Amino acid sequence: MYLKSIEIQGFKSFANKLLFEFHHGITAIVGPNGSGKSNVADAVRWVLGEQSAKQLRGAKMEDVIFSGTEARKPLGFAYVAITLNNSDHQLATSFEEVTIARRVYRSGESEYLMNGTPCRLKDIQELFMDTGIGKEGYSIIGQGQIDKILSGKPEDRRELFDEAAGIVKFKRRKIIAEKN
Ligand code: ATP
Ligand code: MG
Repeated sequence: MYLKSIEIQGFKSFANKLLFEFHHGITAIVGPNGSGKSNVADAVRWVLGEQSAKQLRGAKMEDVIFSGTEARKPLGFAYVAITLNNSDHQLATSFEEVTIARRVYRSGESEYLMNGTPCRLKDIQELFMDTGIGKEGYSIIGQGQIDKILSGKPEDRRELFDEAAGIVKFKRRKIIAEKN
């Protein structure tokens, strides 16, 4: 499984519709300060369900919507879609490609889509559980996160190993079964 593309429109500094296409191997995004490199990583975090504006380096959720420049009016919505190549079926779905999208309007109205069909955030979280992808996964290592892992409590570190070992879903199911 690998990240095939990211489509962004109206998210943070990206007013125009933009498509990043990736291939096997390593891709680096380079550019001057303030050109939007971190905004690309924020877009991936956001589409995977990030609910915290602070994690996205904003004060409120609306801050992810393009707020305009001298030359350009603000936009009314933000949209991000990521497409993963799933030909190895690491994601538990028969689809060869999985596209996850999220859209939010200034009114606060928002939606998630999985391969074009509206879905719940929970569906997205379940799809990525134990894969390392997802807003809590280790596929996105933010600034200061390595330090947090190294100096963190053993219980917190354990969570990371559980995710890597792929046993989070069993733990989750056990908790649900014990409740019933
Ligand atoms: P650095 O090299 O300093 O880390 P960077 O390339 O990572 O820079 P980002 O932090 O991704 O840069 O981008 C910051 C820019 O994004 C700022 O110019 C900021 O004004 C702009 N920006 C953030 N949110 C919005 C928004 N909602 N609307 C318009 N522009 C925005
Ligand atoms: Mg940056």
